[in-house]
Amino acid sequence: MKGEFLSEKTKAVLWKVVLEYREKRKMALLRNNLEYENFREELYQIKKKAISEIESLKKKAISALKENGINVFEAKDVKEAREIIEKLAEGKTKIIKSKSNVFNEIEEEGFLTDKELTETDLGDFICQIMGEKESHPVLPAIHLTPEEIAKKIKEKFNVDLESKPEKIANFVRNLLREKISQSEIGISGANAITSDGKILILENEGNISLVSKWPQTHIIVSGFEKIVENLESALKIVKASAIWGTGQDFPVYVSIISGPSKTADIQNQVVIGAQGAREVNLILIDNGRTKLLKEGFEELLYCINCGACLNFCPVFHQIGRNYGSKYLGSKGIIFAGFSESFKKAVDSNCFSCTSCMACYQNCPVKINLPELMKKLRGYLEKENLQTGVNKEMIENIREFGNPFGKTEEGKIPKRLYCC
Ligand code: SF4
Repeated sequence: MKGEFLSEKTKAVLWKVVLEYREKRKMALLRNNLEYENFREELYQIKKKAISEIESLKKKAISALKENGINVFEAKDVKEAREIIEKLAEGKTKIIKSKSNVFNEIEEEGFLTDKELTETDLGDFICQIMGEKESHPVLPAIHLTPEEIAKKIKEKFNVDLESKPEKIANFVRNLLREKISQSEIGISGANAITSDGKILILENEGNISLVSKWPQTHIIVSGFEKIVENLESALKIVKASAIWGTGQDFPVYVSIISGPSKTADIQNQVVIGAQGAREVNLILIDNGRTKLLKEGFEELLYCINCGACLNFCPVFHQIGRNYGSKYLGSKGIIFAGFSESFKKAVDSNCFSCTSCMACYQNCPVKINLPELMKKLRGYLEKENLQTGVNKEMIENIREFGNPFGKTEEGKIPKRLYCC
């Protein structure tokens, strides 16, 4: 196992969140009259069909988006994605950003450092000022207590705050309003894209609405796997993201963007750029996704990033973000294997997965992550990239027919391995 274990305090907070989440999700499904397995199957079929037709859906989507006035770029890797963003941001300095897992793929030291980049998601903003990495895709600052956050705010902004979530949220809201009003570019992700050219972004805080509408330029970064056939399918994904992500019936806000802001209020002459973004850019990134498709890991592209699998992962509950890479958990490790390197998958604790199946049972799109993890380990074995312990076990199996080595009848083996 690489990296440190979570503190007992963080483990206790995580466990409390999981217990509350379970109950909320159950109630949300009940309220919506949705049967757990039926809804999962429906979602699985939507994503399965979309990914099996992804090339033609992508072509259709790009053409429809362009027709609507959205600039569409395709980036084969993070380097290309960074170059596109840097070009779009030329001459501009003030950028606001909302939560985006795909942007996390692109981000690295030195990228956009000549700009003032402000996180507008409360959890991400807290992580930014604390100099911490996010610890959960939906609840990035879950590992931090209100006391720790209030202390940092005092240090950084010289403001005495009561260490209560509502006081912190209110302080950050006022602080961010100023940044948002001066921003020139807004960067966000996308939750779903339809083949007829609509981009869906969901949120609770209202910050994404501002990021996508206040600045003149909106840049959306997304993996191409977000494309689905139609709005009906996209809205099912939005609903599932809310139920499985936070146990809500539906997100507080859903933006459906189909082009730059426009008006024809004066003499019916179309003017681009009324109150929303004048320029909308979509960057569709590959970064290993085509490799996943080619190597038979297409199920990983069904992921809607709800984070439910992490809530139930026994390994994540012990080592937190040490279990994963740019994305957390088993999904993150498998993705790292194909978007970064196999070595990265090993360093992200690929061999710590227990194959308990809790992620699979709790995934709204029924991704069999343990099975994909086993498959990935096969690749690592071929590349001779197992851990030392793993190599020892393999040797023992070859030599003694069991992973423990030489055993004596009636005695417990000297070493009971753990990766
Ligand atoms: S693998 Fe499934 S449960 Fe995990 S984030 Fe993706 S969709 Fe959600």
